[in-house]
Amino acid sequence: MSASSASTDLICSAKGCRAAAVWVLAWNNPKLHTPERRKTWLACEEHREYLSRFLGVRGFLKDVVALDAWQASAPDR
Ligand SMILES: [Zn+2]
Repeated sequence: MSASSASTDLICSAKGCRAAAVWVLAWNNPKLHTPERRKTWLACEEHREYLSRFLGVRGFLKDVVALDAWQASAPDR
């Protein structure tokens, strides 16, 4: 539980969705990114499955992490 208000500003990455994000999808496109690179998408509860399937069928999806856990593990804030 952070006192920061930053987490309330994070919005789902699905097109047209304005819902607050609760999941982080970490992914990597091996054609574009070095193996250790992680791109992230944010997802609300409703779009987590849709977005993870989108990445999963392409073989890009590496990890799905709850947003609060992701932020707790991110050293750069
Ligand atoms: Zn959404």
